[in-house]
Amino acid sequence: MFQIYNTLTGKRENFKSIKPKKVGMYVCGPTVYDYGHVGHARTYLTFDLLNRFLSSLGYKVNYIQNITDVGHLVGDAETGTDKIKKKAQETGESIGDIVRHYTEAHLEDLKSLNILEPSNLPKASEHIKEIVSFIQDLISRGFAYVTEEGNVYFSVNKKPDYGKLSHRGLAEILTGTRVEPAKDKRLPADFALWKSAPSGATEFVWDSPWGKGFPGWHIECSVMSQKYLGDTFDIHGSAVEHVFPHHENEIAQSEAKTGQLLANYWVHSGMLTLNGRKMSKSLGNTVRVPDALKDYSSNEIRLAFYQTPYRQPFDYTRESMTQGVALRSKLFNAYMGAATEGDEERFKEIIDALSDDLDTHRALDLWSELSNTLSREQFEKLFNIFGLRFIAIEENPQAKKLADEREEARAKKDFLTSDNRRGEIEQLGYEVKDSDSESHYIPR
Ligand SMILES: [Zn+2]
Repeated sequence: MFQIYNTLTGKRENFKSIKPKKVGMYVCGPTVYDYGHVGHARTYLTFDLLNRFLSSLGYKVNYIQNITDVGHLVGDAETGTDKIKKKAQETGESIGDIVRHYTEAHLEDLKSLNILEPSNLPKASEHIKEIVSFIQDLISRGFAYVTEEGNVYFSVNKKPDYGKLSHRGLAEILTGTRVEPAKDKRLPADFALWKSAPSGATEFVWDSPWGKGFPGWHIECSVMSQKYLGDTFDIHGSAVEHVFPHHENEIAQSEAKTGQLLANYWVHSGMLTLNGRKMSKSLGNTVRVPDALKDYSSNEIRLAFYQTPYRQPFDYTRESMTQGVALRSKLFNAYMGAATEGDEERFKEIIDALSDDLDTHRALDLWSELSNTLSREQFEKLFNIFGLRFIAIEENPQAKKLADEREEARAKKDFLTSDNRRGEIEQLGYEVKDSDSESHYIPR
């Protein structure tokens, strides 16, 4: 039985989908005003593993990941500037160009890490009509109010269970609200559903019953998750820093509208630090995915990250990443020598570890320890779950040709040519391991 930790209940629970063998999963996607970094990648890698693991258990996963291309405000301060607009002002590009550019960069990051593309990647800007009507519904039910400034806010004290995901009462949330509240809010913890456009804004603002403006950040997820997955769906996930306020606010909006539970399981991945420090734009210590891929292959990045269970913080260091390199080498080398018959019991131990709240740390330990008892087919099943790409040198004609030339040179004791070929083969993404009798070319 697959068990997963549910932030909402604070417990590990048996996973049971609403519909047999089908899973609806929503994961908050990127705000496309800048490049993502490996901290974001960790979140998408966590949900990629969950997606792949559920598929391996026979579920058909409808995986929705939104693209936030409107109205994401700076920090929690809802009086701040729109991040996308700010970027446009800084670079002199149009908002449309910015959004397109960073959306593509995000998709490229996913692809380069062998993350399976979600079933759908809906954009907030393409759902404005639905957002407006969702907000109208909240107003008519008394959960939201319109101010003279043309803003619409959700009234948190109309929702007695507000704070249930972050396990805090409203009083605690109110005393903990540090940001200067907008002047037209009734309570500092009320949050924006719709923001009026600054004067002169023409791009990425829309007409609404409350005047020209744009949606708040939280509302788009409520609207798109309902549209694509229904009132109640199975799994809602993202990084742990979104528990409050983002997910708390999604729950408030959606459950106020439908009277139903928004999602049965709330899954949150832990944060990523760089050499023990938080990775962030403002600290200037971000590592982008293409930068990480200069030092490590996608297989190595995945194995390094998965050595830490998803809920724990992961520290990106030379040491932690080198563990991924070593594990990739060991597993791939074992696969190249694996037999056709494997031990089913041992294989099941690895799957059982993953069924235990995705304990990738234990699963990888077991895999490494048991690797000589597994068959090629069992290896391939695990490659699929962990998203590892094994491209044998025989499948890469350019590398294969160099390897043949190297073997020839080695036979003739032409060590200069052999060394040159070795360097070229390594450039193409292979690790070269020589024994007395033969050479192994292990994909990276
Ligand atoms: Zn969201």
